[in-house]
Order: sequence, then C-alpha cells, then structure tokens
Amino acid sequence: IVDEGPVAKWHKSVCRYCGTGCGVMLGMNKDKKLVRIRGDQEAHNKGVICIKGSTLDKMMANREQRLTKPMIRKEGKLVEASWDDAMTLITNKFKEAIAASGPESVGYYGSGQLYAEESYTANKLFKAGIQSNNVDGNPRLCMASAAVGYTQTFGKDEPPGAYEDIDHAECFFLIGSNTYECHPPLFERIMIRKKSNPKVKIIVIDPRRTKTAEHADLHLAVIPGTDLLLLNSMLYTLIEMGLYDNEFVNEHINFNDGKQNVSFEDYKKFLADYKPEDIAEELGVSAREIRRAAYMFGNSKATMSLWTMGINQRIQGVFLNNTLNSMHLVTGHINRPGATPLSLTGQCNACGGVRDTGSLSHMLPNGRLIAKEQHRNEMEELWGVKKGTINPKPGYDAINMFKAMVEDKLKCCLVMCTNPAQSVPNADYYREGMEKCFLVVADVFETETTKLADVVLPAALYIEKEGVYGQTERRYQLIEKLIDPPGEARSDLEILGEFAERMGYGGLIKARTPHDVWEEYRELSSHSKYNFKGITYERLKEERGIQWPCPSEDHPGTVRRYTEGDPFVPKGKKHYFYGKPDGKAVVFLRPYIKTKEQLSEQRPLFLTTGRVISQWHTGTMTRLVDELKNSSGDACLVLHPEDALKLGLKEGDMAKIDSSRGEMMGKVKISENETPGVVFAAFYDPNFLVNKVVSDDYDPVSKEPAYKVTAVSVSKSLPL
Ligand code: SF4
Repeated sequence: IVDEGPVAKWHKSVCRYCGTGCGVMLGMNKDKKLVRIRGDQEAHNKGVICIKGSTLDKMMANREQRLTKPMIRKEGKLVEASWDDAMTLITNKFKEAIAASGPESVGYYGSGQLYAEESYTANKLFKAGIQSNNVDGNPRLCMASAAVGYTQTFGKDEPPGAYEDIDHAECFFLIGSNTYECHPPLFERIMIRKKSNPKVKIIVIDPRRTKTAEHADLHLAVIPGTDLLLLNSMLYTLIEMGLYDNEFVNEHINFNDGKQNVSFEDYKKFLADYKPEDIAEELGVSAREIRRAAYMFGNSKATMSLWTMGINQRIQGVFLNNTLNSMHLVTGHINRPGATPLSLTGQCNACGGVRDTGSLSHMLPNGRLIAKEQHRNEMEELWGVKKGTINPKPGYDAINMFKAMVEDKLKCCLVMCTNPAQSVPNADYYREGMEKCFLVVADVFETETTKLADVVLPAALYIEKEGVYGQTERRYQLIEKLIDPPGEARSDLEILGEFAERMGYGGLIKARTPHDVWEEYRELSSHSKYNFKGITYERLKEERGIQWPCPSEDHPGTVRRYTEGDPFVPKGKKHYFYGKPDGKAVVFLRPYIKTKEQLSEQRPLFLTTGRVISQWHTGTMTRLVDELKNSSGDACLVLHPEDALKLGLKEGDMAKIDSSRGEMMGKVKISENETPGVVFAAFYDPNFLVNKVVSDDYDPVSKEPAYKVTAVSVSKSLPL
C-alpha cells in the first residue's frame, strides 16, 4: 500500500504484467495518485491477484528511477537531449541506412507489453510504409511455437477454449508450466476445482519438482528434451486402451504426415514406435507411469491441458504443440466445458498485441501471412497502399534480427518496451550486434538494453497512457489513462506517430490516438475470422473484457471457438474447424528427434531456465519493489544435493557454468526439488545473466529458441 492518503475513487483496470490478464481495481487519492490496488471481484480472476500484481502501485510510485528525458550517446556516454534532437538523429540515421542499403537494413523489435494500438501502428508503419518486414518482438521468444501449433492444427491461431474451462475440467494435464509460480490465480482456480470434486486429478510433466508438481496426483519428471516421446507414447496408449473418440476421429479429423493426408491406421502404425515399454528408459520414467498418465487423461469426463514455455521453448516446440492438440482431438476432449488445450501466455499482450496484429516478421494482421500474395493484396487494399507495396519476403525473426546486427546487415533498429540484451539466448554474442547497430530504445527504466543504446527515449508506462491488452483466452480489455507520465516521457504511440511523420508516412499513419487506432483496427478485423468489430472502447469501459470472435456490438463474445456459440460455425454443426477448408482439424504424425544439446563427459548436466513467483521477465519493473526483491533474493544456480556433493559445491559457493555458447559465474543454491542431473536458473537478474550460456538453437518453423535444454558443466570457481 502506497501511503498517500485514502482512496477517493476506484477505477477498473488490468494488471500490467503477465498473460493471465487479471482484472484489478486501482484506488486513486484526491490528488489523482495511485495509492491502492486490489483484485477485481467482477473480472474473470474473481478478485484473485498474485504478489506481483498486488504491488503494482509501488512499482508505479517509483518515479525517481524513471527515464524522463531523451538521451543520445556522445563520446561513448548517454547524455540528455531534447525530443527534437533525438528524433532528428533517429530519422536521419534510418533514412541514411535506407538510402545506402535499402529498407531491409532497418527494423523494429517490439513487445507483448505494448498496447495493441501501438504494435498495430508499428507493424503498419514498417511493412506498408518503410517497406521493411523486419518487425519482430519478444513474443517470438515465448509463444511462437504455440501460435504455429494452433494454426497448423486448427487453421487459426489462439486457443479454442477459455479459463472458464478450469471450473469444469476433471483432469488437468500441466506440461512445461509452473502454473503455481507463473500464473498463480489460474493455479488457485485449479485447486478450487480440485477441492470441489474429489474426482479431479492433476498430472504434471516437468523435469523439476516445482511448486506446481508438489500438488500433482501424478508427476512425471521426464529428462529434459524428451517429452515428445511421452506425448506420442500417451497417444499410443490412449488408442491401445480404446480411450479415443471414434466418432470425433471419423468426422472431424484429418491425419497428416506433413506432406499428405493419411489414414487412422497409418497413424496407429506411426505410434507403434512409441510403445511405453520401448521409450520409458530414454524418457526417464516408467512405462507404468506413462500408462497411468494416459489413462487419467483419457478416462476423465473433461481434460484440460495447460502449458507454457517448457513446451514452446524447444527445438521441437511446434511438434510438441501439434501433438498436444492431437491428444485432445483424438480423445474428443475439445469444444466442451472443461475439455480443451489452452496454451498460457507470459506477457499481458503477447496474444492481442503481437500475434493478432501480425507484428511478427512473417505475418500480417489477423492471421495473414506475408508469404501469401492474396494476404498481402488484402492488407494493401485495407491499408490503402499500392498493390505490391508489401515486400513478399518475410523479415528477420528475433534471433536472426540480432544476428543481422552482428553481421552488420541490420543497421538501425527501434526497440520498444523490451530488454533483449538480457532476454536473448547466447546473450554476449547478440549484445555485440546491439552495440554495432544504431539502436534506439524506448523504455521506462534503465535496462541492460538501454545501456547499449545510441538513443534512449523515455516512454509512458501502463496507466500513464491508454490502450487494449488481449490476454490468453482471446479476451480484450481496456486500460484507461489515469495519470500523466513523468517528465518528458511519451506514450509509444506518440513516439511512433512522430517517427512516422518525420519519415514521410504521416499520411499512412493517420490515426494517432489510441481510440482512433482501435477504430481502424477493429473495422479491419471484420474482414477476417479474428473478427472483433463488436468490441468498442465504450463497451470495454463498462464490461470486464470481451472474448473474440465478436462480430457486432450486440454480440456477447465467444467463450469457446469451433463449436456452437461461435459465430463462424455453421448452424447445426457441433464442431467445425473453420480455419481448414473442409472444417476438419489436423492430427500430424510428429516424430521425436533428439535435441542437439546432449549430455557428454565434458558437459554432464542439463540447464533449464524459468521464472520465480515474485519476479517478472527480466525484472526491470519487479526488481524495483522491495517486497518482491526481498521475496526472490538474487538469482542463483539451483542444484540437487547429489549433484552438489559430486561437484564439491555447497550453498553460497560461486560456481562456473560452461556451455557451448560461453561461460559465467553464479552463486549456488541447493534444493531437494531439483532433479539430479538438471540445474535451474531464473533469468530475472542482470547480475546473474544466465542467457549468456543458454543455447540459441531454435525450432525450425516457429524460430522460437530452445531456452529449456542446454548441456552445461558446473564447477567450483576458485578465488583468484
Ligand atoms: Fe498480474 Fe499475472 Fe499476477 Fe495476475 S497473475 S496479478 S496478471 S502478474
């Protein structure tokens, strides 16, 4: 509680941090200062918020550390400058690079924390104005595999189900998700459901005994990198036990081997290689446990899967997502209350802001692809630019964008609201690129990335500006402006508007207020099946978010897609996957391939990275709040006691961590909850920059890096 007097007025809003998208109530005092925060009882989270959300007011009250004036690097140092000087320098540099090396020499790296209106505007400016498809952002690092997985399986991105399904599920399959720490209100909702019905079971698949795993009825601590073996083996077992839905399989599924449709019999033959007894050893769990997991999954009345980075940040991230979706299709655990595959989101607006606006290097708004001529033509017409304006070649995805900086191919880059110098894997290598490139960073506090920038622009934060977030379950929610930004800070939309004007695209970027951009974008959405034309600011000011599709202002929104109630499902059809030409979803035959990161004598441990409950992302905001800092402490390398004993390490020792990408030092923590052979580190602490040693290999289709599996050696670091 910020001690600045009593609350004069409560305002409905949304938490600034994770993709749970909790509704919050913000208490403002008579001087219009934010002094209290509590969960919104009427929102989907029913008043529950986590430790991070409940200290948002403290983070917002920290104005001493805010960036309040533009800064330009002169003789190696960042010095204060006027907005005019900063914007003149940026525009000149971008124009020079384009004149010398073409529009592909400039780019934009955005964030799942910008408002939808901001990402939409940046995407339009770069792709339809500057003619550079080098538009990517941090959602590439956390959910690109889920987006591709959904699109390939159902023909459209974004989850079919909703949080509401938690209240109806009888089995929860949590894979690669530490829900307890990363999405606490959702985990609490799962536990409430479990307490209300003794039949409810929780299965957790995670190499670590996380807080989530502690609450499981069945925890399978699989060897990092092997869980596609498990999913295929569970599918084998489900079919072997007869726990599949024959009618659903016959009427609503096509089986596909990646090239052509095949039969259900072919699929069974493919799965024959994944008999539990044959793969259990490589997976690191017993055949009996695999069969038990499959039985629990298939035998429940309604099974809900929830997953995040443990599945997405993998070399086979897309295959894992496809196969998880397949488990729901084959068993018919889909399109009814409690039965759904729901991929959870790390950032507040990665779904609505980046995936749906198409602000990735291969995409255009509302599920369109750069590579498809018809999609480019549609967007050129909708944006009112000449046919052929949009470059048909996709731009650089995140990793290749930073690589292009290293190779001096990307000369200028505008980074907004994110901290890649801390969050990219193989960080030292790509930081070198960030130093070479003319880097413009708009942010709110100093970060590892602003330290490398040539120009730093002070940005407005959260309720200092207005805009829409779209969270995990396709729910759009409005954040209204309640306070002014400090000093000379400006909203990212204002920055983009001025940049567009100075670059000569003021006519293209005509909408300059959040409301006007939203009006343009919601109209545009009506030309697609991501239709949210009915979601207006006026409605969002009154309602607790609305789930799309929502084609008209009298439409209530859609809780579950592809079934009755979805406006795009033809009348009389119970299931219809309208993203596919024949309305059938696709079950792909997805073979397991060993990850490149394998253990060896030289590197005998797997390193996996993740989050802790009281810190968020790279910690740029949450590390500034005392309660959160005290709760998390500094980041450490966490080892099982057996490994610590073997390595001669004890709690508090300094250790050297070495991978094929580099080495770093870090303090050791010992925990029984780690699995022998697996070490863990959180990535929120710039003084423990674990991404220096994390592998930057990525999924070949989603281009999402495989943060979860890196082979390392750990040794005691001797004092000099
Ligand atoms: Fe905010 Fe996420 Fe915590 Fe909800 S769960 S309060 S959205 S950080």
